Amino acid sequence: MPAISFEFFPPKTDEQRNQLDHCVKALKARGPDYVSVTFGAGGSTLNYTEQTVQRLQQAHGLQVAPHLSCVGGTRQELGELLDRYRAIGCHRIVALRGDLPSGMATPGDFRYAVELVSFIRQHSGDHFHIEVAAYPETHPQAESALTDLRHFKQKIEAGANGAITQYFYNADAYFRFVDEAHRLGVDVPIVPGIMPIGNFSQLRRFSETCGAEIPRWIVRRMQALGDDAEAIRQLGIDIVASLGQRLLDGGAPGLHVYTLNRSKTALAILDRLQ
Ligand code: FAD
Repeated sequence: MPAISFEFFPPKTDEQRNQLDHCVKALKARGPDYVSVTFGAGGSTLNYTEQTVQRLQQAHGLQVAPHLSCVGGTRQELGELLDRYRAIGCHRIVALRGDLPSGMATPGDFRYAVELVSFIRQHSGDHFHIEVAAYPETHPQAESALTDLRHFKQKIEAGANGAITQYFYNADAYFRFVDEAHRLGVDVPIVPGIMPIGNFSQLRRFSETCGAEIPRWIVRRMQALGDDAEAIRQLGIDIVASLGQRLLDGGAPGLHVYTLNRSKTALAILDRLQ
């Protein structure tokens, strides 16, 4: 059985909290291995992440992996946060560098995610199962695909147990990345992150900055649907479900779904997978 995990962002308003509760109830029925909660670099959603982790554990009984991004943070702050996560029963962390919000000057004690992984191992021993980020289409700031892959390998050598990829719509990029990582001696599971397509123009804007490419054939087909939101959603389900199936058929160890706190499209995609 492939492992399924769902990613949520921490809600800030009552309306968003209700939406997340509704989404979690629907997705929980699919028996995820765990769910994860994102973290705003520089501490902006630090509290919201912690609150959301507690709520998902206590009210929904889920195994939760908080994301922890190190940029802008100090050893002391991150160490205390790790201790609190440990105290409430978390066993999994997604360890990231994060991106400093524009205008924020304090870089903090860590420059790269590899340093955070080492710090977590130093601070908490083997308590946490650590996931790190991987970029089949190369991180946007990387000098080259090869240096990015080497940096990825360093995170595994520093003690990470697995990886979740940035989303992508090109399965070959994932298979090549996994092959190359294996050739470099990386043998941890690399789980593809899949992004349902809801608001296509928003997704296009976001993809430009985060190291994910939307293939031309998808852009052209989406553009042809104009403002027909339901047709866009259905085409998105079709594209992402086919991608997910191809990834699983090709040996991906599971799927990590970027839910954006919405269940309907994610469920429709999962329903189409064998
Ligand atoms: P790193 O692994 O540190 O890599 C960042 C860049 O630095 C890469 O280009 C890498 O090649 C380069 N690099 C690494 N080590 C070195 C070195 N020693 N010398 C020189 N260059 C080096 N962001 C958030 O803010 N909050 C979240 O919750 C969040 N969740 C995410 C979840 C997933 C699954 C993914 C894929 C991304 C997530 N992000 C999140 C985004 C992530 O923080 C950004 O992509 C960020 O720019 C890089 O983070 P990283 O952990 O991959 O960094």
